Amino acid sequence: MPDVVVIGAGPAGLTTAYELQKLGLSSAVLEADHQVGGISRTVDYHGFRFDIGGHRFFSKVPLINELWDEILGEDFLLRPRLSRIYYKNRFFDYPLKAGNALAGLGLFEAARCGLSYARARLRPSADAKSFEDWVAGRFGYRLYNIFFKTYTEKVWGIPCRDISADWAAQRIKNLSLWEAVRHALFSSGKSKDGQVITTLIDEFKYPRLGPGQMWEACTRRLAEQGNPTHCDVAVTRVRHARGQVECVYGQTAAGEPTEFAGQHYVSSMPLRELIRALDPPAPAQVLEAASRLRYRDYLTVVLIVKRAEVFPDNWVYVHSPEVRMGRIQNYKNWSPAMVPDPSRTSLGLEYFVWETDEMWRWDDRRLIELGTHECAQLGLVDPRDVEDGTVVRMKKAYPIYDHGYQEAVATLRSYLETLSNLQTVGRNGLHRYNNQDHSMLTGVYAAENITGARHDVWSVNTEQEYHEEQRQTDASAGGDRQVPGRRA
Ligand SMILES: Cc1cc2nc3c(=O)[nH]c(=O)nc-3n(C[C@H](O)[C@H](O)[C@H](O)COP(=O)(O)OP(=O)(O)OC[C@H]3O[C@@H](n4cnc5c(N)ncnc54)[C@H](O)[C@@H]3O)c2cc1C
Repeated sequence: MPDVVVIGAGPAGLTTAYELQKLGLSSAVLEADHQVGGISRTVDYHGFRFDIGGHRFFSKVPLINELWDEILGEDFLLRPRLSRIYYKNRFFDYPLKAGNALAGLGLFEAARCGLSYARARLRPSADAKSFEDWVAGRFGYRLYNIFFKTYTEKVWGIPCRDISADWAAQRIKNLSLWEAVRHALFSSGKSKDGQVITTLIDEFKYPRLGPGQMWEACTRRLAEQGNPTHCDVAVTRVRHARGQVECVYGQTAAGEPTEFAGQHYVSSMPLRELIRALDPPAPAQVLEAASRLRYRDYLTVVLIVKRAEVFPDNWVYVHSPEVRMGRIQNYKNWSPAMVPDPSRTSLGLEYFVWETDEMWRWDDRRLIELGTHECAQLGLVDPRDVEDGTVVRMKKAYPIYDHGYQEAVATLRSYLETLSNLQTVGRNGLHRYNNQDHSMLTGVYAAENITGARHDVWSVNTEQEYHEEQRQTDASAGGDRQVPGRRA
């Protein structure tokens, strides 16, 4: 019997097991899918490798950077970044650069944006509840409309006024328009207080063979020390009694029942599904709170294009409202090893959908046709150059921050705290918009809690900082291991 049963072999679950191994505890990781990595997996299609989206490895937490280096070593590359916004048949630099944005918008539109920005700053709204209030209040309505609204609504599938301001605060709190303009015009690289500003991050780390390589390497390291990962095992029932989980039950891909027991349990499966799997069932009001959690689903159409170069970006945000795709990834620009033949390009077209949408059920051929048509419409690809394609669907890619989610999560959290040997971690495990680094950090904390630490796993990534902005003081650049949410 392993010391700990871990549900899910994404970054959070695998990091939990990896940290447990370092602490001298054994684990068994159960993964519903046939491969590891979760949303951070890499899919291989005839030698063309691609992510679910594009996964930059970027963290302000030194401990996480150390873990990545330790797991992958020299296959962990430093890559240049170029990403732009495509809007009204033009490319705009992203992050925004003043000169480029002015040229793209034209003087008249730029002046209107400036006026609308001034108006917003002169009459700030005291209490921004929605994403729309929050962003328009800081950047002005016109800039919000051009650079935030269309893309955000494509991603979330709900109007920006129904998205909680929390999400904006978490993602773009410190992105000051003035700072971006100042940086673009007078870039000294230093702020008033002498900090190095790397707001406009132009490099990131990335595994040579895509993010899944990190998680495959982690799985191998676990197996070498006798800590197995069981793929194709979906946990469907979590039996508990007297405030403790006793056993989890699952099903293999062949439909055979299987069960695992340990002293402790760590779950990265979606919070809503975990609550529904509890046996005996959770009280009615807890089940009702779970049913209020919502998720946005995602599919990517990959086109194999008979051209060595299509565009120089790693990815392009597609703000143009006339097409459904939200973003295009160009995987060979992430790492040249992502394509088996340098005369070919693989593009990942990203569609943000609900699994109840008709489009979710379209067959692959129809989705590939849609993607090819939209790329042609944007003037990016000649349909005659598309020689193959594939589709990957990913359910629950995004936990939704709507107006009721915080209350629902609080109810679930206090109920789960009655089960003393169960912790939840990760992105959907905590219903938190976590990137890999924060998902991993919750796994490190959960492992350390099992050996007596008292970390608050739920506090990770509540500091509301923007992913794009990193202020490095000399002290933190020096490898300080201090990390958020750590109590012990
Ligand atoms: C489009 C997109 C782009 C992204 N870009 C970045 C980026 O650039 N950088 C970055 O750091 N992060 C990025 N992320 C976020 C990153 O993918 C997640 O933070 C990370 O994968 C979360 O790890 P996790 O282990 O918590 O969850 P997941 O990756 O969701 O893993 C959970 C695992 O649990 C398994 N599971 C679920 N239910 C069960 C069950 N009942 N039984 C057994 N197993 C189960 C799942 O199959 C899955 O493998 C992106 C996400 C998306 C959607």
